Amino acid sequence: MSNLKVKKGDTVLVIAGKDKGKKAKVLAVSPLKNRVIVEGVNVVSKCKKARSAQEKSEIIKKEAGIDASNVMVVCPKCGKPTRVSHQIIDGKKVRVCKCGASLDKEFVKEVKKASKTDKTPKPEPAVKETKKKATKTTKVAKKEEKPAKKSTKKTKESK
Ligand SMILES: [Zn+2]
Repeated sequence: MSNLKVKKGDTVLVIAGKDKGKKAKVLAVSPLKNRVIVEGVNVVSKCKKARSAQEKSEIIKKEAGIDASNVMVVCPKCGKPTRVSHQIIDGKKVRVCKCGASLDKEFVKEVKKASKTDKTPKPEPAVKETKKKATKTTKVAKKEEKPAKKSTKKTKESK
């Protein structure tokens, strides 16, 4: 597990370096190096020289990445840069903002999905099954009862 508080897909605020004050999306993280690659932050130009006549020399601009300590995660809910704290919800470690919102979009999705599936389909099929079973058994019971009644009536009539 990585100890980085910043994750791919987060919006971060750069708090140090030449791109200080920029808000951008995290493209990649490297927990081992404690670095984050942020869109448009610390862009380095690299020259790609033509090796053949058909190839063109070009300048490639690429994000070199910055130290993870130079960014703060921006909360998608309150829009403020926040110190990430952790909470354990349903056995999962979730990053949480000061405002209480989860910073992990995946977890939010999972929670929504789980709550949806838990709320609706679970009680309904159980009720339907019991109803079906009940109607089937009553039908069977009626079928069984009818000839019996007729026979009893006949026997009564004959008597
Ligand atoms: Zn927040």
